[in-house]
Amino acid sequence: MKVLVVNCGSSSLKYQLIDIDTKNVLAKGLCERIGIDGSMLTHKTPDKGSVEYKEYMKDHTYAIRMVLAALVDKDTGAISSMDEIDAVGHRIVHGGEKFSQSVVITDEMLRVVEELTELAPLHNPANLMGIHACKAIMPNVPMVAVFDTAFHQTMPEEAYLYGLPYEAYTELMIRRYGFHGTSHKYVTGRAIEMLNMDAADTRIITCHLGNGSSITAVKGGQSIDTSMGFTPLEGVPMGTRCGDMDPAIVTYLMDKLGLDTAGVNAYMNKKSGVLGISGVSSDFRDLGDAAKAGNKRAAAALSTFAYNVKKYIGSYAAAMNGVDAIVFTAGIGENDRTMRETILKGLDYLGVDVDFDYNMSCPRGEEVVISKPDSKVKVFVIPTDEEMMIAHDTARLVK
Ligand code: AMP
Repeated sequence: MKVLVVNCGSSSLKYQLIDIDTKNVLAKGLCERIGIDGSMLTHKTPDKGSVEYKEYMKDHTYAIRMVLAALVDKDTGAISSMDEIDAVGHRIVHGGEKFSQSVVITDEMLRVVEELTELAPLHNPANLMGIHACKAIMPNVPMVAVFDTAFHQTMPEEAYLYGLPYEAYTELMIRRYGFHGTSHKYVTGRAIEMLNMDAADTRIITCHLGNGSSITAVKGGQSIDTSMGFTPLEGVPMGTRCGDMDPAIVTYLMDKLGLDTAGVNAYMNKKSGVLGISGVSSDFRDLGDAAKAGNKRAAAALSTFAYNVKKYIGSYAAAMNGVDAIVFTAGIGENDRTMRETILKGLDYLGVDVDFDYNMSCPRGEEVVISKPDSKVKVFVIPTDEEMMIAHDTARLVK
C-alpha cells in the first residue's frame, strides 16, 4: 500500500510517498513560496536524486498538481500513475477536544476542523487548504487526518486546566492542548520497545527539541502532561518563541512598547526565544559557534534553554513518581550533543547515568542509548519520523 503524506503550511507543502509494506520512502519533497514570487518544488527520490522545478504556484491546488506530476514523471518519479496512490494522510495542527485520534476525512469532520480554526488561526487554514486541494484532484482516494494535539488528549484535568475561571475552559476552550503529538507518540512507541518493560508500567519523558520544542510526560504509553499549552508558545524558550513567563508581562509590554495584540503576538512568537536573548540567531548551530567565540548573550540563550528543559524533566519525574527513560528527538535533540550534555548533567539524583563520551561520539540519524548499561534511567536518542507515523495511521484507518 502506498500512502502520500501531506503537511501544509501557509505557503509551503511538504510531502512523502511511503510504501507501507516495505517502510520505504519512495519520494519526498517540498513546495516553497506558494502564492509568492519565486515558488519552487524540490523533489527527491532515493535512486534518481534531487530535482528542482521553478514555477509559480498560485495556490495549494496548483502545488499538489505539480507534486503529482513530479511523482509520475518517468525521469524523476516514483510511480507510473496516480492510481498507485492508495491513500493520503494529512497533518492537522489542532484537533481541539474533538479529536483524540486520527480519523478518516469526511465533509462532516472537516466542518468540525473549520470550527477549530479559531484555536489555530495560523495553522489549521493551511492544513485545510491542502486537504481541499487533494480532494479536488484525487476525489476518490481515501484521506485521513492526523492531529498534532490528539496524543495529548489523555492528559488529566489537573494537567490541562489553567488557573483561570472555569468558564474560560467551558466557554472559550482555553486549556492545555499540547502539540508535536505525532512525534511524541512515535518516539514513545520506539522507547517502549527499547525499554523491554511492560508498556503499562513505563514512565517516559520525551524531549522534542527543534525550532519548536516541547517536553512530554508519558505514563503507560499515554501523555499525562506536556509543556506546550493552549498554543505552541508555552513551555521552554524556543527558536523565536518566548515560552513560559509571567502572564503580566504581556500587558506590560503592550503598555511600554505601544503594541496591539498582533504586535505583542509577533514579539513573543517571532522575536523572542533564543533569537531574542542572543540577538544572534534562532539556529542552535549559530549559537554554539557564537558562544564558543565568546558571545555572552549566545551563551546565555543556550544555558537558559538547557535550564528550562532540565526543569521540565524534573517536574515530569515528580508528576510520574520517577522516570524509566528520557528520550531526545528532533533537530536539536538528535544533533546537538553539547546541548544534550548540558541538560543531562546533574540529574544523577534521578538515577540518570550518561556515558558522556559516547554521547559525543555516537552515530547521528540512528536510535542510540547514551546512558551507561546500569543506569537506572535509560537515555535514548531516537530520530523522530512523523511522516511514517502519519502513513501508518492512514493505512490502518483506510484498510
Ligand atoms: P527541527 O525544527 O526539528 O527541524 O530542528 C531545527 C533546529 O535543529 C535548528 O534550528 C537547529 O538549531 C537545530 N540543529 C539541527 N542540526 C543541528 C546540529 N548539527 N547541531 C546543533 N543544532 C542543530
